Order: sequence, then structure tokens, then C-alpha cells
Amino acid sequence: MEKERQFIMQTYSRLPVLIVEGRGVVVKDADGREYVDCVAGIAVNSVGHCHPKVVAAIKAQAERLIHLSNLFYTEPQVALAEKLCRLAKFEKVFFCNSGAESVEAALKLARKVTGKKGFIAAQNSFHGRTFGALSVTHHVKRDVFEPLLHNVKFVRYGDADAVRKAIDEDTAAVILEPIQGEAGVIIPPLEYLREVKEICEKHDALFILDEVQTGFGRTGRWFCKEHFKVQPDIMAVAKALGGGFPIGATLSNFSFERGEHASTFGGNPLACAAALATLGVIEEEQLVERSERLGAYFMQRLSEVIGDYDSVKEIRGKGLMLGVELQEKCENVVNEALKRGVLLNCTADRVIRLVPPLVISKKQIDGVVKILSDILKGFDEG
Ligand SMILES: *Cc1c(COP(=O)(O)O)cnc(C)c1O
Repeated sequence: MEKERQFIMQTYSRLPVLIVEGRGVVVKDADGREYVDCVAGIAVNSVGHCHPKVVAAIKAQAERLIHLSNLFYTEPQVALAEKLCRLAKFEKVFFCNSGAESVEAALKLARKVTGKKGFIAAQNSFHGRTFGALSVTHHVKRDVFEPLLHNVKFVRYGDADAVRKAIDEDTAAVILEPIQGEAGVIIPPLEYLREVKEICEKHDALFILDEVQTGFGRTGRWFCKEHFKVQPDIMAVAKALGGGFPIGATLSNFSFERGEHASTFGGNPLACAAALATLGVIEEEQLVERSERLGAYFMQRLSEVIGDYDSVKEIRGKGLMLGVELQEKCENVVNEALKRGVLLNCTADRVIRLVPPLVISKKQIDGVVKILSDILKGFDEG
């Protein structure tokens, strides 16, 4: 921990624990203590830690070819492209290495396709930390990095009329998360995204959906857009796609042309092999259905057990993307849960965001609910 402070730029506040291995939903620290992981690498390890099929695919690919560049053809990239396009119902994909990059590509593609400059994003949005993605991000520290893209308007999330008022002849795209993750698992009205899409169509602007956090079964559908019965013009994905290995992708029926965008590592064989194995596991183990089922169970248990505690303001979620909003900051709950063997994450100060691996069991859920209940009861009693 001392060396971390000495040699790493101090951009993160880490919990005081050294995790050395993980399997499924459980991770182990250096002293051999086990933790039920309700963070999953921030909605990344959806198939569980070190899923044997993902590990085997990475090993096998690492022994054949790790990286090549996009100056040549590789098999895993093309196989993954076809699979992703079919799953998400788009014609084309561009591969990159992270969520922010997938948003960058989406913004660039929108400008190129429409010939317009402006963007509309939501208040409390999170789309990443690179300059373009940061420009449409409202949730984080921005001021010291200005000037960002200057033609971005932020409107109230969940309010289609606000988009209607803000959109103009220079709007290239509206970008939204289908459920706001970092903002505290905020679920918009059912017709919101469809209405925004219609508004975009009317103004020849594109609709970008950021499914970086919600994609690949997290919310009980392959993509959260299915809940809202909407098809965006461009969709950004990353996080869970590689089963823990970094990879991102931007999907659309529109396309860049030669030389307009590129990434050295984008679509490299190792990342694509990991992603193909991950998608295979999600299908074989029916993790999308499982996410819906166990998410509903988790939600029900939470509501039954802690729903009417004084310290609990609201419990909400879709699939295994749940938020427990507290009356007070949740930092202490997270620290206390760590001591009791549960990894939790607190976002937007007051929301415990529960995004466990989709392979979590009912028994593990019961255990987490019990520990949360004990901690909050202690707080309620002062
Ligand atoms: C995490 C996240 C990003 C950024 O992803 P990185 O891989 O950290 O760059 C973008 N959008 C959403 C909705 C996210 O949750």
C-alpha cells in the first residue's frame, strides 16, 4: 500500500484489501479471507471470476497469436464481429479497448455521418474520461480539463421534452445511458428512450445509446435497449464483453471509411478470443435469463428485509443491476461490509450499487442481504 502511494498517481480511493485470486462470485485476499463480490470489477465479471472456459480460451489464443494489428486479417476478430452484430442487431462494428474509446468512436461517427457538431447528453451522465467522452459526461470533475467540446447541452435525464427543447439544426447526436449507472442506477420512464429516438429522427440527429455498463445480460436482457423496445443508431459496449479482458466495441448501421478511425490494439486476437468465450458462456449458462430471475429475487429479498429501514430511501433495479439508495452516505456501509466478507461499491455518495457476477446463487444473495441488514440495523440503532 505504501508503494502504491509512492508510485501510482493517486486517482483512486481503494478499500484496504489486497485481492489475489477469484473464482465465480468469490474472491480471496492475501490472508486467504474470502469475499462475496457484489462489484464484479464494476459490472465487468459477469460470467464470474476466472471462468474456466474464458481462461482456456485466453490460454489457447495466447499460445497461438496475441497481437497482430489491423494491417492483416485475424479469425477471432471476424468471428466476434459477426456474433456481436447478430446479437445486437447492427450491420457493422468497430473494435477498441475500453468504454471511453467506444464512446469516442460513437461521437466521431455521429459527426461524420450527420456533418453536424453538437451533442445533447443527460445531467449526471457518465460516458468515460477521454476528452470526447468527458465532454458528454456530467458526473465527474471536468473543470480543470476545459476546454472540452463546447457544443454539448446537458438536459434532465428521463425527460424527453427537455431533449425536444434542446435539439437544434446543429445537433449531431443525443447520447444517453439506458439506465444511468454511475449516477446511482437511475431508471428512466419506459417510453423515454423511444421518444428521444423519434425526436432525433425528426431533426436528422443520431441517437447514441451507451450500453457499456448495461450490456450483455446485466439488466436481464442481452442489451438494456430491449426493455425499452428501442434501436439506437449507434451503440457503445465494453465492460462485460471480454469477461474481464479489456475490449470495447461501437456498433451501428453507419460506418467509418478507410483512415477515418483506427486502434492499434482494437480487435486484437486475445481480446476477441476472450470475448467470444464470454459470449459463449452467457449463452450456454443462460445468464441473461438468470440475471432477470435472480435480479428479481435479490430485489424482492432486499425489499422484504431492509425495505422499511429508516436508513433506506429506495431500492431499485433491473436484472442484476441494483441500487440501494440510503438517506446518508454509504461509505461506512461499504467499509463494514468488507470486514464481514462482502465487496460493495458506493456510487453517487448514497447509492450502494449491486452488480454481482450473473452466476451469483440465491444462497449468496441471502448472505449479502443478511449482512446488509445487520449493518444497516446497527446504523439505524445508532
Ligand atoms: C464504465 C463506463 C464507461 C467508461 O468505460 P471505461 O472502460 O472506464 O473507459 C462509459 N460509459 C458507461 C455507461 C460506463 O459505465
